[in-house]
Amino acid sequence: MIPYGFQDITIQDIDAVTAVLKSNFLTQGPVIPSFEKAITNKCKVNYAVAVNSATSALHLACLALGLGKDDVLWTTPITFVASANCALYCGATVDFVDIDAKTYNLCPEKLEKKLELVSTSGGKLPAVVVPVHLSGQSCNMEKLHTLSVRYGFKIIEDASHAIGAKYKNKPVGNCQYSDITVFSFHPVKIITTGEGGVAVTNDKKLADKMRLLRSHGITRDPELMTHEPHGPWYYQQTDLGFNYRMTDIQAALGLSQLERLDKYIDKRQSLASQYDKLLAELPVTRPYQHPDSYSSYHLYIIRLQPDKTRASHPKVFSFLRKQGIGVNLHYIPVHTQPYYQQAGFSYGDFPEAEKYYTEAISLPLFPKIKPEEQTYIVNTLKQVLST
Ligand SMILES: *Cc1c(COP(=O)(O)O)cnc(C)c1O
Repeated sequence: MIPYGFQDITIQDIDAVTAVLKSNFLTQGPVIPSFEKAITNKCKVNYAVAVNSATSALHLACLALGLGKDDVLWTTPITFVASANCALYCGATVDFVDIDAKTYNLCPEKLEKKLELVSTSGGKLPAVVVPVHLSGQSCNMEKLHTLSVRYGFKIIEDASHAIGAKYKNKPVGNCQYSDITVFSFHPVKIITTGEGGVAVTNDKKLADKMRLLRSHGITRDPELMTHEPHGPWYYQQTDLGFNYRMTDIQAALGLSQLERLDKYIDKRQSLASQYDKLLAELPVTRPYQHPDSYSSYHLYIIRLQPDKTRASHPKVFSFLRKQGIGVNLHYIPVHTQPYYQQAGFSYGDFPEAEKYYTEAISLPLFPKIKPEEQTYIVNTLKQVLST
């Protein structure tokens, strides 16, 4: 099976990890701050807090922004469930904004309309909005930022797909238009630490808070304590935190992978344009690229055109899988998950997302995919579409 995504591990990565295994620190030692520094340099942002997953980073980001029991978080239905679940961890509730028909990202115009409607009807405006840069294409952050100022909400960018991507020629993660940005280092993502994630921000208070919460809410810094330390052994719990720490083993892998980030993005861009060429004659919609965005191409998502093909979406999908092509579907609209249906959402709530779900297919894309594999994938697709 050609997988839809796959990690790239080099001898250099293995050596970096082995060096940590032979050192004195396995978890949260000296490599964590080096990795965090490298992330801030890459993203042109002030602070980075490395954690054990992007899910943890989203949770900490929500807590740092003060999201709580009476609050609402808005996100897109076309995302991984973690972008919504983070609100529920904090006791807040979730609502969604339908997607844009071209980019499949949270639609800024629909967001604006919904904000207007909620504010004029005396409803509860969101405390936090989580735009997700689907497949590595940035949302319209400038517009979202303008709305955040007008309606007083905070922004967490879920950039799990988008490390190395650019928006208006600047790195995603510089937080010019948001409070916090999170990245994922799961093995299918652009770079990996096995499991891992990071939250970046330009706000020192938010960074300090997330750093405190990632390790039980415990500090060893006398500056942050409520009174003088009892002695050199002393630490103080000032908040209720978690164990969301990344290990040095993971950070070493991440640091080593990060050196190849630009190469990975170049490669993914050229693989995507190869797909663009190969697919040009087929009755499918290729990924639209907004001129403000330079995508990291975590995913290459096509859409079937039901009016131009007889083969149904499930049939095309199953046929490709049977032919050894590990296609995938990103994502099942979150509001249609049973857990969210219990919370009151129904089919029909977000029609653009639901339509997308009946047409979308992620084709395999990873740095080591071979040209003949791409050709095979497209030929197989062509075959099933003509039946
Ligand atoms: C992968 C992913 C996450 C979760 O990342 P983990 O590091 O696996 O916790 C969250 N949001 C999106 C959009 C993702 O793709």
